[in-house]
Amino acid sequence: MNYLIISLITFISGVIGTGLGGAVGAVLKRESNKIVSLLLSFAAGIMLAVVCFDLMSEPLETMKEGLLPSYTPIIIVAAVVGGYAVVYVLNYFIDKATNHEVTHIDANHPATADDLDELIHSNHYETHKNSKSNLFVAGLVMMSAIALHNLPEGMVIGASYALTPDGVANLFSGSGFIMAIVIGLHNVPEGMAVSVPLISGGMGKIKAVLLTALSGLPTVFGALIGYALGGINEMMLTVSLGFASGAMLYVVFGELLPEAILMWKSKLPALSLFLGVLTGFLLVAF
Ligand SMILES: [Zn+2]
Repeated sequence: MNYLIISLITFISGVIGTGLGGAVGAVLKRESNKIVSLLLSFAAGIMLAVVCFDLMSEPLETMKEGLLPSYTPIIIVAAVVGGYAVVYVLNYFIDKATNHEVTHIDANHPATADDLDELIHSNHYETHKNSKSNLFVAGLVMMSAIALHNLPEGMVIGASYALTPDGVANLFSGSGFIMAIVIGLHNVPEGMAVSVPLISGGMGKIKAVLLTALSGLPTVFGALIGYALGGINEMMLTVSLGFASGAMLYVVFGELLPEAILMWKSKLPALSLFLGVLTGFLLVAF
């Protein structure tokens, strides 16, 4: 029963959230970089707070109750490093594949240095009018990047759910539900970032929105993995929470914040991050 409801909640958070962003992007045709920047850094702040104040520190409480060994903090750090490293390596290969694509396309359609530059930086949410095929590729690259990072985001939701005792009432409270909402909301600007280049690149609106929604599907798989692993015993829960936390920290530090600052070079994304951390703290504290 819990698996079914968690799948449903993460489907709404992942697929509906991202798809909604895709639809907003299709209607607006272009994203407002400044608003997307603020939304992404605010969401990054909330995620950071939930990871640090809740997910990473929860096993310490269990340790104080005597249910986990005294070296638990070392296990947590090792799991966080593992999660960070796995997403880092996966991203490295995606970047490599992307650069292949750049040279391949460049060889077929001689492009200006500007075009090439645009293509290389295409995953930084930039929208340009020239060169439709470049935009199309940018949209596809964005889509695979978002799909990949949705897997650890789903794991965070699932592992957080494993923290709370079983019972349907607990599915709609606690850190699992908070993460599902926060991740669902931040999927909206991410969905916009996928559908806008796809549509500008020539794809039909409905197809683009459906493909964008599809990139949210790994959230559901991640959640099921996180929930299953976390449910085995206290130590597995600690390891999977740590792993999901590390993966999430990569998404925050390696993707969301650099993107937010690239989109709007001002002090405001930092302020938005700061407010996000405080909001996340309040969400966890109550
Ligand atoms: Zn995300």
